Amino acid sequence: MPKRSIDFATVRARLLPKGARLLLFAGLGGGLALESNGLRVLVRLGFAKEQKNWSATWRTVNAAIAPELAAGLAGDAADLAALHLALRRHGQELCTRNKPICGECRLRERCPSAGA
Ligand code: SF4
Repeated sequence: MPKRSIDFATVRARLLPKGARLLLFAGLGGGLALESNGLRVLVRLGFAKEQKNWSATWRTVNAAIAPELAAGLAGDAADLAALHLALRRHGQELCTRNKPICGECRLRERCPSAGA
């Protein structure tokens, strides 16, 4: 099981293009909308353990990141929207379900699942 060694500020800084401000999810500010790709990335980064089913994993990850969201470490609503999209894209293109391409990942130095 991965041991967490990364924070939201680092994830945001390494995944988001500089100056990214996507307003598609304006009003999202209460939390991070995670789908399966983003959820998988955060589990592999060690934010929470994978649970028996997707819903339980979603709740566990959201509980784990809630303090950092509350502290504003993920930024404002536009940052959250951009982070959501960046996590989804990262999971689709690099941190794929069956064969993550860790050698090309910006997070690999601090990811406890890199190369696993
Ligand atoms: S290092 Fe590998 S497992 Fe970790 S986030 Fe990157 S692609 Fe995913």
